Amino acid sequence: MEKDVVIIGAGPAGIFTALEMLKKGSKSNIIIVEKGKAVEDRRCPKGKTGQCVSCKPYCHITTGFSGAGAFSDGKLSLSYEVGGDLPNLIGAEKAQETIHYTDRIYLEFGADTHIEGLGNTEEVKEIRKRAIQAGLKLVDCPIRHLGTEKAQTLYYDIEQYLLEKGVELLFGYECTDLILDGETCRGVRVRNAGNELEILAKHTIIATGRRGADWLESLCAEHNIAHQPGTVDIGVRVEVRNEVMETVNRVLYESKLVGYPRPFKNKVRTFCQNPGGFVSQENYDNDLAVVNGHSYKELKSDNTNLAILCSHNFSYPFNQPIAYAQKVGELTNMLGAGHILVQRFGDILDGKRTWPKELAFSNVRPSLPDAVAGDITAAMPYRSMINIINFIQAMDQVVPGFASTETLLYSPELKFYSNRVKMDGDFNTNIAGLHCLGDSSGWTRGLMMASVMGVLMGRKLAGDD
Ligand SMILES: Cc1cc2nc3c(=O)[nH]c(=O)nc-3n(C[C@H](O)[C@H](O)[C@H](O)COP(=O)(O)OP(=O)(O)OC[C@H]3O[C@@H](n4cnc5c(N)ncnc54)[C@H](O)[C@@H]3O)c2cc1C
Repeated sequence: MEKDVVIIGAGPAGIFTALEMLKKGSKSNIIIVEKGKAVEDRRCPKGKTGQCVSCKPYCHITTGFSGAGAFSDGKLSLSYEVGGDLPNLIGAEKAQETIHYTDRIYLEFGADTHIEGLGNTEEVKEIRKRAIQAGLKLVDCPIRHLGTEKAQTLYYDIEQYLLEKGVELLFGYECTDLILDGETCRGVRVRNAGNELEILAKHTIIATGRRGADWLESLCAEHNIAHQPGTVDIGVRVEVRNEVMETVNRVLYESKLVGYPRPFKNKVRTFCQNPGGFVSQENYDNDLAVVNGHSYKELKSDNTNLAILCSHNFSYPFNQPIAYAQKVGELTNMLGAGHILVQRFGDILDGKRTWPKELAFSNVRPSLPDAVAGDITAAMPYRSMINIINFIQAMDQVVPGFASTETLLYSPELKFYSNRVKMDGDFNTNIAGLHCLGDSSGWTRGLMMASVMGVLMGRKLAGDD
């Protein structure tokens, strides 16, 4: 099969590449190869079974049209300071302009016009003052919240638009390799259960998301695609009652706080805050169970959850950050007999595990019922654990009650963005015709920034028509 552009992965990075090419009037033949299903066919069985059944061959939460975006909370971060390091590659101003442009596309496809985190100046000032006192930085970030259920409708409309405009969507096919001719990429090899195909194209875009990050890392090693080991984030998902987070939830919706706690002074930050939300589980292909969180527009819980993540960078002689984080996750899963572990903050300080009956003593009830009470400290590296404890105690000065005994910590919360592919500002790798986008490229870590990278790629390709 021969095409002008082949895109691997139908997450926001991949679909916004095609969308922007169409918007700019491109006449190119575009194919998107996606190993999962169309968005309307994606189902997470947990709704019926009540617990994660580790779907094979892949998890429907992260795989299929719109990628990890479909079942995500759909929080679009509208600041260039949030969502990854893309601004370091293209410049902060261009990143911010493209965020506004991309946000308008989301609005065209029906996103809620309301923006969280604007106004309330006096209350924001007060929160910032407390953050300063606690040694934390408050990052301003307006948020447009799609909500998990609305995100699926919105991405369905984008899917239909792409189909109407002639973009070919090849579902159920997994890309296995690149077709290289010396230093030039000529296309890809893809396969489904019984079929193998070669797709030749002038431009190959790899946008395989977090789940495709280790696959891309192996491609880089095999084909000498210039890259560098990047950061990996190890942390926990924290859950407290809504009453504790009430002010921050109302004023900011999402508090983006960053700190460098003693003694290690590594970057520690809050991420993906879900007021009235639910803690959730994702399963990776290698059976790794990791924790995440989301919130619906209508259905609300009594709790707020958010991630606290510590960034880890390694130096010589170690260069396998993804494998490191996976080992931490595997050890935690082992202790939880394959389940997510949950522990009360007070028990961590007391040096004891949490027993299931003790969870019932608290005001906060776990919103992930199949999490197992236990001891996350038995699997968490010392440096990460100390970072998390010290950060939670600093957060308590901003949000009184955050560091209470009953605060729940779920583990493992891991973010694999490492293996940063070296590219120029037009997303050209050292292999001609090969471009890497979104979370798997190591340059983004969120819906908006991945979409922005797609928009800029689409513009560039349309300009080359
Ligand atoms: C539960 C959850 C909640 C989240 N909430 C938010 C949020 O509120 N706000 C936010 O900004 N971000 C959120 N995120 C993160 C956000 O979803 C991702 O940052 C974003 O989707 C990345 O986009 P992407 O296009 O790079 O990759 P992805 O969305 O991961 O898409 C990659 C696609 O590539 C496909 N693929 C992978 N390998 C192959 C292969 N070899 N062949 C073919 N196809 C392949 C996958 O099936 C997938 O569909 C959340 C993520 C999760 C899992």
